[in-house]
Amino acid sequence: MPVYIVLLGPPGAGKGTQAQLISEKLGLPHISSGDIFRENLKNQTDLGKLAKGYMDRGELVPDDLTIQMIRDRLSRPDCVSGALLDGFPRTVAQAEALTQMLAEFTGRVNAVPYINVAEEVLVERLTGRWTCRAEGHVFHEKFSPPKVAGVCDFDGSELYQRPDDNVETVTRRIRVYLDQTMPLIAYYRQGGVLLEVDGTKTINQVGADLLAGLDKMV
Ligand code: AMP
Repeated sequence: MPVYIVLLGPPGAGKGTQAQLISEKLGLPHISSGDIFRENLKNQTDLGKLAKGYMDRGELVPDDLTIQMIRDRLSRPDCVSGALLDGFPRTVAQAEALTQMLAEFTGRVNAVPYINVAEEVLVERLTGRWTCRAEGHVFHEKFSPPKVAGVCDFDGSELYQRPDDNVETVTRRIRVYLDQTMPLIAYYRQGGVLLEVDGTKTINQVGADLLAGLDKMV
């Protein structure tokens, strides 16, 4: 049976950082909906052009487009044993579509790690964030700076600040998260698959808590 994990948490909770660790440890492909949208934006595909305005404003791309994009991605051969989803689902409609889609692949959502971080610290985390162009490794100018400013420690590629990591857009993204994505916590808790961890601990400690919890669930 394939294993599917959904990583939940507000923007700036550290989902991308922890996803890299979990994906490596469990041998599951890391599927980030935001990364796929950014890739489409860069390559100026039709999907990228449709998504751009929403992303620039910090709003969600419409469900139908997003669900189809994820369905295509999960249908690829590297996902036969399952996947780690980061940034999807973000609405109840997306979560319901995912449940249905996974049933078609003879699977289900096995675990939902939820990285809980209080709203107050998210703005500072996101506006100080620097992301690597090659692989999406993330750094923070104050909390986890790279060894050399502007250069990724892992692959030497250039670090940049995402255009949606400015104060105004970050504030909108957090509000969108509270309105549209928070209900998923109750949805998955009811399903008995939620694994809540404290995202204000150190990166290593959060990673250890996640792996220990997942060990019991998958
Ligand atoms: P992220 O990298 O996860 O912060 O996503 C960046 C942006 O991509 C979001 O602000 C949305 O505009 C869009 N996006 C990513 N995932 C989704 C999703 N599941 N549903 C709708 N929009 C999404």
